[in-house]
Amino acid sequence: MNDDGAALVLLSGGQDSTTCLAWALERFAHVETIAFDYGQRHRIELEQRLVVRAEIRKRFAPWAERLFDDHLVDLGVLGQLSETALTRNVAFHMEEDGLPNTFVPGRNLLFFTFAAAVAWRRGIRNLVGGMCETDFSGYPDCRDDTIKALQVALNLGMDRRFVLHTPLMWLDKAATWALARQLGGDALVDIVREHTHTCYESVRGSHQAWGYGCGTCPACALRKRGYIAWSEGRSLS
Ligand code: ZN
Repeated sequence: MNDDGAALVLLSGGQDSTTCLAWALERFAHVETIAFDYGQRHRIELEQRLVVRAEIRKRFAPWAERLFDDHLVDLGVLGQLSETALTRNVAFHMEEDGLPNTFVPGRNLLFFTFAAAVAWRRGIRNLVGGMCETDFSGYPDCRDDTIKALQVALNLGMDRRFVLHTPLMWLDKAATWALARQLGGDALVDIVREHTHTCYESVRGSHQAWGYGCGTCPACALRKRGYIAWSEGRSLS
């Protein structure tokens, strides 16, 4: 365990952030979580994240002792500013610049900045987020360089030594399933499958091997493809 103490995890309630929470609970003695209400269509994730926290507490006694406060920050202004498929009821499609219309400009920059403001107040040094550059939707604020630059900016601007951890940065979705299995065995994989919400639609949808969701939106497609690749890899090994 890393005894430099405490971490604040960006927990949206999806597969990636839940895996990051487990990663942090393995390493830090004191873990808090934070999420943002920005008028997202898939608001159900904000409810599922509390279910995820409760299930982890129930099924992992050592982690329960390290899991502390949860913070929900109202970022409604972000929803007002951004005309995207994540905050408006429009169909998902690719824009001419190659970005999906689910891109909310500046979202991760704002999330980490607000998380750092909370961490500053709470005396927490480590920030953990599920950004990933390997198997992502092309969002520029998920890039490793973006996060590293932001770490420098936050440390200069707040006069702290924050460390921004992104344990999934170089993993694809199949490897993220594998990491959940490695961290918390089948119990954690069950929590990810049954209780996390990745789908862009705000419905739990029908139950599939990889969890709940519409099965067709870009987020479901990625999650499903990763689960199939991981489970086929397991059956081969
Ligand atoms: Zn979906």
